Amino acid sequence: MTYDVIIVGGGIQGVATAYELAKRGAGKILLLEKTILTGGSTGSCAAGIRAQFGSEFNVRLMARSLEIFEHMDEELGYSKEYLELWQGGYLVLAYSEKEFEGLKRNAEVQHRFGLDTAILSPEEVQKDFPRVNIDGVVGATYHSRDGHADPFRVTFAYAEAARKLGVEIREWTPVSEILVENGKVRGVKLQDGSEEYADRVLVTAGAWTTALLKTAGVDLPLWGEKHEILITEPWERVLGPMVISFSRGFYIQQRPHGSFIMGLPPVDPEHWYEPEAFDFSSSMDFLMRMAKEATHVLPFLQGVNIVRQWAGLYEMTPDHHHAIGPVDEVEGLWVAAGGSGHGFMFGPVMAEQLSKWMTGSSMDIDLTPLAPGRFKKGALVVEPAVVG
Ligand SMILES: Cc1cc2nc3c(=O)[nH]c(=O)nc-3n(C[C@H](O)[C@H](O)[C@H](O)COP(=O)(O)OP(=O)(O)OC[C@H]3O[C@@H](n4cnc5c(N)ncnc54)[C@H](O)[C@@H]3O)c2cc1C
Repeated sequence: MTYDVIIVGGGIQGVATAYELAKRGAGKILLLEKTILTGGSTGSCAAGIRAQFGSEFNVRLMARSLEIFEHMDEELGYSKEYLELWQGGYLVLAYSEKEFEGLKRNAEVQHRFGLDTAILSPEEVQKDFPRVNIDGVVGATYHSRDGHADPFRVTFAYAEAARKLGVEIREWTPVSEILVENGKVRGVKLQDGSEEYADRVLVTAGAWTTALLKTAGVDLPLWGEKHEILITEPWERVLGPMVISFSRGFYIQQRPHGSFIMGLPPVDPEHWYEPEAFDFSSSMDFLMRMAKEATHVLPFLQGVNIVRQWAGLYEMTPDHHHAIGPVDEVEGLWVAAGGSGHGFMFGPVMAEQLSKWMTGSSMDIDLTPLAPGRFKKGALVVEPAVVG
């Protein structure tokens, strides 16, 4: 069949963009997902959302994304309780003067965009968050509107809202090839050999994006990097904020039902471009490192049992930013991938702005610096506030 837009990939990025495109009257839209919606990184993530970034660009984007999360109940018709939107803040700990100076500079940028990020001394951290061990802590920043949301429910809510607007969503439908004719995209070939046609194809296939674009002759420097994560048994609710350190790499949050979710970056990150090489194994090394960090910063966790661990992929690019926009090599072929460790939180705002770009409206936040062609031009975009 022929569509106006075909989207490949049913994670937060693909599903939210399908909804936003439908809302803007982009025509007949088909979304194809090779497994189930959230079957990629979206379903593996910690789902933290924060505006505490360091570049103006990211702070603006995440300030808008937070607003979208805050009004998602009205927009998509699902309550905040269903979406498990929890705004307990992010407490970002600094373990050296240099790191604290960096956090203060980031907070200045955040203040310029209307965010009321607090700069805290170790004593203030102790007073406001008595469960946090301030050993080695030099200072911290805290922004109360940061938090987390359920990645499955947010994606499903977008999917239902998209379906209501007429978007066709097909799960268990892997795309094997992007069809190109005379430099223009023609559609996609499915694994069963059938074809679907559209003048515009948007690839939102997360870490699988590189392999798919290759079938259209496009080289994108985007790779999968394994990150491990674990969840504990539910416990009494004691932790409001996501507790995080950029220098030590940990993040720890308590879900609304009481479990703690936490992660740490790999010691020696490996880069995988080909899906056959992707590694989703869990390791004892991660468990040991994570348990040590977690019980140091939150000593009460010594009494809490771990119930499950898993691994997922950050979709990395050379500058940790999305590759988003039309590809230079093939007319009508678009990409939106590469959120690295923060693609869930950026999903809603990227979807909103990208859908404006694709439908010819002016963007409120100009995404063109993130166009995939920047890598060949060496025009990288720098962000100082990232984990791993
Ligand atoms: C351990 C961990 C913790 C994280 N924590 C956070 C966090 O706290 N906050 C945050 O914002 N982000 C976090 N992230 C990052 C976040 O999960 C990702 O950046 C985000 O989910 C990417 O969404 P996406 O839609 O771009 O990609 P994905 O969710 O990977 O979706 C891509 C989809 O495309 C499908 N697909 C692939 N190839 C094909 C094909 N050929 N045909 C059809 N379908 C295809 C896949 O099955 C998949 O469902 C974390 C990631 C990990 C691994």
